[in-house]
Amino acid sequence: MPLTVRQFPCLSDNYGFLIRDEASGLAACVDTPDAEAILDQLAQTGWTLSLILNTHWHPDHAGGNEALKTATGAQIVGPAEVRRIAPLDREVVHGDSVQLGETRFDVIDVGGHTLGHVAFHAPDEAVAFVGDALFTLGCGRMFEGDAPQMWAGLQRLAALPDETLVYCAHEYTAANARFALSVDDDPALTARTAEIFAARERGEATVPTRMGLEKGTNPFLRAPRLAARLGLSGAADHEAFAAMRAAKDAFKG
Ligand code: ZN
Ligand code: FE
Repeated sequence: MPLTVRQFPCLSDNYGFLIRDEASGLAACVDTPDAEAILDQLAQTGWTLSLILNTHWHPDHAGGNEALKTATGAQIVGPAEVRRIAPLDREVVHGDSVQLGETRFDVIDVGGHTLGHVAFHAPDEAVAFVGDALFTLGCGRMFEGDAPQMWAGLQRLAALPDETLVYCAHEYTAANARFALSVDDDPALTARTAEIFAARERGEATVPTRMGLEKGTNPFLRAPRLAARLGLSGAADHEAFAAMRAAKDAFKG
């Protein structure tokens, strides 16, 4: 049975996601960037929120938990680190699964941006909600984890089927594309960035993306192949990733 995804911009550059399992009519939101915006979307759709899925503890992902819990009584599911700032009803770790009606989400450890960051993957629907772990042509900053941890998490995402629709939590794609072009001249990337700049000119979202597209063009997933460009021939994969992350952090494009 299908899963309906309703994506909407909120805060300065976040995306909020309301999802509905059509078999049961049950609805959830992925992260709580802005409780008011989510309540407004619920009012527009007439959906009743029964579940909140948190990817990580940052305020633009869990900051609306308390207000939404009060307003809807929804159950909140996420990694333990969410308790640093917000209420949580059920802690999940890598390998757990969460059910929304007939839709099953597998919890994937993608720590690195924050230590406990998780992604939610619905294999039967070929969709994944990845928070700030992976972005269209980018990845999250490595605030809490180290490169081996974050690289391992990204490899878990890269192992998902190519057709997987990947919902990332921010619209950072134009800046990511400018950086990608500075480290990679692969024709597939050049073509894709042209499409991205045109889409952004038209005000269109570049989320969701597809895992296969990211594997072919995302400079962080391609870091081992681009290592020579970073002066790192013979480096371990996670070292190439760390160098790519450092280059992006310093990039002023
Ligand atoms: Zn974050
Ligand atoms: Fe964020």
